[in-house]
Amino acid sequence: MKMNPDLPALPSRRTFLEQLAVGGAAALTFASRTRAQPAPPKKLGIAIVGLGGYASGQLAPALKLTQHVEVRGVVTGSPEKGKKWAQAFGFPETSIYGYDTMHRIADNPGIDIVYVVTPNALHAQQVIIAAQAGKHVISEKPFTTTVADAEKALAACRAAKVKLSIGYRLHFDPFHQELKRLAREKDFGLLAKLTGANGFRMGQKVWRADYKLAGGGPLMDMGIYCVQAACMAADGAAPIVVTAREHPKTRPEMFTDVEEGLDWTMEFATGAKAELMTSYGQNVGRFRAEGAGGWINLDPAFGYRGIKLTTSRGPSALAELPSQQALQMDDFALCVREGRESRVSGEMGLRDMKIIEAIYDAARTGRRTLVKI
Ligand code: NAD
Repeated sequence: MKMNPDLPALPSRRTFLEQLAVGGAAALTFASRTRAQPAPPKKLGIAIVGLGGYASGQLAPALKLTQHVEVRGVVTGSPEKGKKWAQAFGFPETSIYGYDTMHRIADNPGIDIVYVVTPNALHAQQVIIAAQAGKHVISEKPFTTTVADAEKALAACRAAKVKLSIGYRLHFDPFHQELKRLAREKDFGLLAKLTGANGFRMGQKVWRADYKLAGGGPLMDMGIYCVQAACMAADGAAPIVVTAREHPKTRPEMFTDVEEGLDWTMEFATGAKAELMTSYGQNVGRFRAEGAGGWINLDPAFGYRGIKLTTSRGPSALAELPSQQALQMDDFALCVREGRESRVSGEMGLRDMKIIEAIYDAARTGRRTLVKI
């Protein structure tokens, strides 16, 4: 099997956990024996904005594993949650900010990176505040809820000369890396037939079904993973034309101003075509790419863990890595330190907003719609 050049170097799960367990003692012994060695570079500091489900359930555990970045502050509407994070990560309570005092992060030299993890419609404004505070920024997906907002947020980061990336964790997952490699190296020829679906059954109405905060329905939230996977299978290209059809609403009381589900297509300049689906009515997450020389199947395709990749050659021998999010945040810290652009750049976030806006236009008009990248 060929090595994947994109794959970040990380220890295996076992060595990773062993290092974590014995890290303190081993580090001391090692340091005392090797005094002449230069100290490893200091970790960068990150502040998390919005301490909801994803921040607490996924990013917090990942931030116990990161090697190049550590939590040094939070922005939250709940001082109580802020104190819990301060205790868990050992930063002072003076580094707990409210949404209205977030701009004061500018005066905190320990914070290098701000990670925006709030409802979608708040991302643009908070990315701009962070950039103007002189901090590098990660925005959760979707980057924003409109192309216009994405352009503004990107412009603010460029003007402040700070780096920007999007929380597209799957670019750090070995199975999605393999999809990218197979697309790039054309092992199975051009991946011309792409199909995928991603969704979950929403139990009760939350901000995700509120247009003002979400900017759209499952396309913004779950469908964006299918957009991403199809662009990966197209070797990073964006589609040129899309079509879309909204599903009839089975729970109109819950989905008053966003779609409940959507089918859409994306056509690429190569002739490849994707047929995709997203929904807040069913639990689903799969992706398939077929070429003249074979096929690639990801099922489940988009989870934090448990992704399964099979190709026409058989099941993948690749191993899962400990944390997509730890790899994603460490990679961004290295991008900041080394002055590189992230592989999940703000430009990629803007590209996806243009694709999503074209899909919504197509659903509204019923027409084949050009994607203006
Ligand atoms: P959540 O509802 O669990 O948390 C949202 C947080 O934002 C809460 O702490 C809430 O208090 C805070 N908030 C601040 N201002 C708010 C306002 N005006 N209205 C409502 N909440 C407000 O949501 P989540 O699942 O953590 O999602 C947050 C972001 O992370 C979303 O953009 C989502 O798309 C993204 N996300 C990404 C992944 C991923 O795998 N990359 C997974 C889940 C969520």
